[in-house]
Amino acid sequence: MIEIDGSAGEGGGQILRSTLGLSMATCQPFLITGIRANRKKPGLMRQHLTAVRAAAEIGSAVVEGAEIGSGKLVFRPGEIRPGSYHFSIGTAGSCTLVFQCILPALLVADGPSNLVLEGGTHNPKAPPFDFLEKTFLPLLHQMGAKVMATLDRPGFYPAGGGRLQITIEPAQALRPIELLSLANIGYSARAVCAQLPSHIGRRELRVVQDELHISDEKIEQVQLDTYGPGNVLTIFVHSDQLTETFTGFGRRNVSAEKVAAETIKQVRNYIQAGSPAGPYLADQLLIPIALAGSGCMRTSRPSSHTLTNIAVIKQFFDIDFQVSQKSDLSWEIRV
Ligand code: ATP
Repeated sequence: MIEIDGSAGEGGGQILRSTLGLSMATCQPFLITGIRANRKKPGLMRQHLTAVRAAAEIGSAVVEGAEIGSGKLVFRPGEIRPGSYHFSIGTAGSCTLVFQCILPALLVADGPSNLVLEGGTHNPKAPPFDFLEKTFLPLLHQMGAKVMATLDRPGFYPAGGGRLQITIEPAQALRPIELLSLANIGYSARAVCAQLPSHIGRRELRVVQDELHISDEKIEQVQLDTYGPGNVLTIFVHSDQLTETFTGFGRRNVSAEKVAAETIKQVRNYIQAGSPAGPYLADQLLIPIALAGSGCMRTSRPSSHTLTNIAVIKQFFDIDFQVSQKSDLSWEIRV
């Protein structure tokens, strides 16, 4: 049985999700201890428990320790069952993180799947729906898997209540991907306000337009009377090989201008690093690359999530990740 230390690296939820996904995809059982040991409230929270249950259902697994607050879990996977599933977190917990957990198994399954996921769709510290739709899933498409996501309604913290649908048509074998250059850059941006005054989105977009010189037709302001309160600013960086997505969240006592400035800073850091895979994409592409058996990407300095994910993946696959620094701000990760 593979033994995983959930307190390694950043010691957060991603170690658990990656471990579940890899265990199902490779049909290897594992024991994880110290789940989310470095978080304020360690152990399994609602969103993680939903991920464990979803993984157990899709992966026909026998599980011990699946309860709120648990720091230890044993997971013995069986056959992967693609099909139609509906998972609801019941809080504003991120449903894109539940998706992140079950995706590897459904990518190697022997049939298509349809998922309905309910919970948060635009959470800080999780992949926002727009990142999935515009950045991550198109890259999976390049690798041969057709994964399409639609947003039925957004779910913001703390109200939640969002819903998305995802269809997954696995490839017979994933193709390797090479993300090496960041060229021919263009921008677009969207500000969404749900049950919040429209001047917030307008002010955010004004700053983004001024700073990044984006023309009027490349910006979009969405005003919703329901699903709130919530405010999200998204800047898309389009280039030859991909679209990267950077997100800022409106919070109480933080001005719209500050939210815009924070989001622009992420974009500037990305452009300055000059590598196509931003820091979040880098940690999330590692498992598809491992499933494909080879591939490479240039990224900024690998985050702790990226390094920890590499270590977890190596416990399930006999593969070597070479991480090399290419310039002051650019690294290459190659399998
Ligand atoms: P915990 O529940 O333990 O606090 P977590 O479950 O929220 O942690 P992390 O271990 O922090 O999860 O992992 C968060 C995941 O969300 C990572 O894969 C990271 O790349 C992704 N992520 C975070 N912010 C963004 C963002 N703005 N855009 C895209 N992906 C993001």
